[in-house]
Amino acid sequence: MNRLLYATREGRLRVHHSLEAAARSGWDMGAADRLIPLPAGTSLMHLPGRIPVGRSSAGATVVVEEPGAMAVAAVLPPGYLRTWLPAYEEDGQAPVLPLYGYAAVASIEGEPYVAAMRTDRWNAWNPQADDRRHIDAAIRAARRALPGSRLLQQLETCATDYRCLTAQNVFLRRGEGAIPVSPACNAACLGCISEQWGDVDSPQTRLDFAPTAAEIAELAAWHLSAGESNFVSYGQGCEGEPLTRGTALVDATRRIRAAAPTATIHVNTNGSRPDVLQRLVDAGLNSVRISVFSLDDTRFRAYYRPVGYGLDEVAECASVVAAGGGQVTINLLTFPGITDAPPEIDTLVRFIHRHGVHQVQLRSLNVDPQWLLDRIPQPTRGIGLRKFVRQLTERCPDLQLGNFTRRWPAIERQPVWASSR
Ligand code: SF4
Repeated sequence: MNRLLYATREGRLRVHHSLEAAARSGWDMGAADRLIPLPAGTSLMHLPGRIPVGRSSAGATVVVEEPGAMAVAAVLPPGYLRTWLPAYEEDGQAPVLPLYGYAAVASIEGEPYVAAMRTDRWNAWNPQADDRRHIDAAIRAARRALPGSRLLQQLETCATDYRCLTAQNVFLRRGEGAIPVSPACNAACLGCISEQWGDVDSPQTRLDFAPTAAEIAELAAWHLSAGESNFVSYGQGCEGEPLTRGTALVDATRRIRAAAPTATIHVNTNGSRPDVLQRLVDAGLNSVRISVFSLDDTRFRAYYRPVGYGLDEVAECASVVAAGGGQVTINLLTFPGITDAPPEIDTLVRFIHRHGVHQVQLRSLNVDPQWLLDRIPQPTRGIGLRKFVRQLTERCPDLQLGNFTRRWPAIERQPVWASSR
């Protein structure tokens, strides 16, 4: 039996004496199921201006009457997927929540639990790993190795202030290394973390210069030279859209490929410019991750607010890389009640089969849930994130599910999706 977990006016956690926890899936209210103990690295947050909602023993939705009581949610570490949203009612003065992936919580036998499932296991991405605590020494060493690198200066802020793991990897000289390349973008995503337009602050500051091909290639060469399993990624949380940097990026990619014939050169993109992506593939890029919130045109446009491109270009981007023998992955920005709606699942499955997708990365979309729903036309109804994941594995047996980008070509098939929780 779970119990509603909420916060008092003073921000103290309380377990409700009689109400069970409620949870939300998009526009619908329900009872959270299959909760797990809080994984290491989870943060509990109270949600100001949001009155907690629970369920009576008869299953009725009940608002907590205690003055000043606030709803509580969990924010998960990498490798876990939120399965339910927190349930609450806004009090009329609720500020828009900062950009986090809020998950429903409950108390079970006095311990906090969260609505989540494990979606990847890869220790390299453990935010609490020992070497990540000594990032300052690694930054000093990098400054000595590449004095004057503007990109390293940008990544210093990302690695320390924003605790970006991909930026930290550059200083630690291992794994997937971030190479931000673009200050500009041709979309205005509701959940963009490098730029916002009024309601909420962006948690990161966008790159404010356009690095040259030589600067990009220099940093990439430094990272790749440190280990055979290292690879480089354009398109990070602190920048705009890399495909808007066509000429410089093609030049940089050509230089990187010439110096590192077997390296993985990867781009995270909104999928807007298949023509540029084709030139990058010709220059030696061999891996792509395309952001997908929805493959329904109305919801796609509502979320991305794209300028000068649409879903046809997104699809062509996947096909371009697949046809070139590269790795195609999707960054699926999941939201309970939308991602798991049957028409969304059908469209995603068709896209995976048609455009040669190798891996889907399952991310919890970081955004104020109600604020997002207010901007999405045509309410949908989900079947549950766990059922959605099961359907994906059954309908796309060759697809890898996970959270992190792998090298390409894959050295061995990694069992990305492995969990009973
Ligand atoms: S595509 Fe990326 S950089 Fe551009 S608005 Fe969306 S999240 Fe921000």
